[in-house]
Amino acid sequence: MKVSAHCFIVAGLAVEPPWAVNSGFIVGEQTTLVVDTGSTYLSAQTIFGYATHLKPENRLMVVNTEPHFDHIGGNGYFKEKGIDILAAPGVRRTAEEFKRNQEEYNATIPNSVRRSRKEAEVFFYKTALANPTKAVVPNQEWDLGSAKVTIIESPGHTPFNISLFVEPDRVLYCGDCIVTGYLPNLEAGNPEDWHTWLASLAVLDKLHPEIVIPGHGVHLVGSKDIKTAITSVKSVLTTALKTGKPPTQA
Ligand SMILES: [Zn+2]
Repeated sequence: MKVSAHCFIVAGLAVEPPWAVNSGFIVGEQTTLVVDTGSTYLSAQTIFGYATHLKPENRLMVVNTEPHFDHIGGNGYFKEKGIDILAAPGVRRTAEEFKRNQEEYNATIPNSVRRSRKEAEVFFYKTALANPTKAVVPNQEWDLGSAKVTIIESPGHTPFNISLFVEPDRVLYCGDCIVTGYLPNLEAGNPEDWHTWLASLAVLDKLHPEIVIPGHGVHLVGSKDIKTAITSVKSVLTTALKTGKPPTQA
């Protein structure tokens, strides 16, 4: 769906329940930039279809906001097409980790017959690990042609999280630094990371975005809802820092 003059969200891509992941893309006069590739090859096909429809002649680039598989799982589809995939330098995963992730997904299938048939293999059809091919630099700016994108470091959820701020639309693609509806996932880090995450939220807040596209959950329009979402993530982090454990741990 279109959220501003240049920015789009591809929402609700499948991950294991209850998660759905968002992807998006920014269409300039010369370049279209895809933000995250979903969990699977099939998600990436869907993203590619939408992202190339408006300006098929545009150069296509991909950026990953973090190293978790729900954001990079579709990279292989874009790599097959020779498209550059950019991310923070630490975004590198191993084939073993990727295989384990797919096995864990299969283990979550509630029906034992479907589980034993390994039906996750259908979900992960043709999905293969493809690490980013180029590193982004903090505060790097890209001119896509009438749309300028700035890379903002926003670590905390992982040490390698980045966000993208699009001008003149004032749209922020923030990956999992802000999620809506879901409790943010603090389990990938420790209290030191949660402090870092709070600092990242302060940086994003100062950008005064008008639209926020989170890694998971519905996108936000207007400063009031954006403030509420940032405050909500902050409060989860502050509580976790007090208790020393993520909110999802009993
Ligand atoms: Zn995620």
